[in-house]
Amino acid sequence: MHQSKTAVVIVAAGRGERAGQSEEGPKQYRRIGGRPVLQWTVEAFLRDHAFQTIVVLIHPDDVERANACLSCFGDRIRLVPGSITRQASVLKGLEALRAAAPEAVLIHDGVRPFVSSRVIDDVLDAVSRSSGAIPSAPVTDTIKRMGDGGFIADTVDRKNLFAAQTPQGFPFNLILQAHEAATRETAQAFTDDASLFEWRGHPVALVPGEMRNVKLTLAEDITAADTKLRSASRMIDVRTGNGYDVHQLVEGDHVTLCGVRIAHDQTLLGHSDADVGLHALTDALLATCGAGDIGTHFPPSDPQWKGAASSLFVRHAVELVREKGGRICNVDVTLIAEAPKVGPHRAAMVAAIGEMTGLEPERISIKATTNEMLGFIGRREGIAAIATTSVVYGDAESAR
Ligand code: MG
Repeated sequence: MHQSKTAVVIVAAGRGERAGQSEEGPKQYRRIGGRPVLQWTVEAFLRDHAFQTIVVLIHPDDVERANACLSCFGDRIRLVPGSITRQASVLKGLEALRAAAPEAVLIHDGVRPFVSSRVIDDVLDAVSRSSGAIPSAPVTDTIKRMGDGGFIADTVDRKNLFAAQTPQGFPFNLILQAHEAATRETAQAFTDDASLFEWRGHPVALVPGEMRNVKLTLAEDITAADTKLRSASRMIDVRTGNGYDVHQLVEGDHVTLCGVRIAHDQTLLGHSDADVGLHALTDALLATCGAGDIGTHFPPSDPQWKGAASSLFVRHAVELVREKGGRICNVDVTLIAEAPKVGPHRAAMVAAIGEMTGLEPERISIKATTNEMLGFIGRREGIAAIATTSVVYGDAESAR
């Protein structure tokens, strides 16, 4: 059958009690890989196909949820209220398609989000004007029939046993007639559409299904699906932070830059040791995990930081980054000053920052520039520093 003459009915009207309760609603609305199950399922039919119509059967209480979940597909799908049983819901879906009169219909469980285009195509190809087709997987577990008192009565030969999956495809008129007859003529509840089609004496072909085309039934199925999707889409979480700081220069005998005390005819004014390089670096590190800035953690109003070595601040930021699962890749500090000369102290600065961060020297960059005698830096009224760092975040366990 051709897809342009085929309609799809996705059954998502159930309450899914076996999967337990959740704030997100019934299991078809639970999130796996960040999106509702039903959204994945519908997308599987839109990805590589252009079906005539797609009807999604929903529970009358779920109109809002369904709209939130499926509005991203625009008018390519039609929401139809379902009924109390699966069978009654499917009949409503088929009746809603009567006017469109498709040649064939694929009926699919809303909680089978991993159906592949290959399976959809194979079912579609196997449907004829007089026969249906379903995907199925050979039963691999040994099957036991239970007898009295919870003991095994016998072992079923699994040789010709297959587990039925969906989408199940049928010629539209025949499956509609079969559903109408079932409602009219028997109280029997059919667990899938193929069994109802068989009951009317129509042939149904088996095409190979896929193990991954599972039906999410229990809470643990949903958790497993979520884990699977998340690990498949895990991206490398590299974050960059920058920091900037300035301190005023006043008369004095030394400055502390990037953890190194340097004799000088001026000194940097500040509450702590006023190490602009390390303050900028602290801010850069904090920026990679949204942890505010240096003032958040070490308020200048707090007397305990008076005269403190700024390595304390860097160490605190490094610890915070680690606690959040971050691994520092590199740090880069630029000092902007007319004097003192940084070159002779660069190796000592790299060693000091290496001690604070645990980084090897090649991952630490200390650069210096003058301000060409321009502005407050040029007039030797202050020193500025810019710092940049890259941190890779994973989970807190793996970072240790
Ligand atoms: Mg500062």
